[in-house]
Amino acid sequence: MPALAATATPDGASIAALLCPLLIILIVVTFCYGIGCWIWPFGACRKCHGTGKRRSPFGRAFGLCRRCHGDGRRLRIGRRLINSFRELHDKGTR
Ligand SMILES: [Zn+2]
Repeated sequence: MPALAATATPDGASIAALLCPLLIILIVVTFCYGIGCWIWPFGACRKCHGTGKRRSPFGRAFGLCRRCHGDGRRLRIGRRLINSFRELHDKGTR
């Protein structure tokens, strides 16, 4: 008796053909983001949008941004990861 395998799910080869380009794109994007974080480690502070100043709600008085201490910069997430991996590597190879 012939086996009639009529299923709605695609076979393994087509799933692999679908996921392989996505995986390659994901790896390339992650690699490019890592290089970007290595070259440009700082981004604009999200609280003050890079100005380093903090305005009062009424717009009269202003001081230094409390989150970035007046720098207007923050360390990017990818750079923070690179730094933690580097620290881990330094501790492991001491
Ligand atoms: Zn700030």
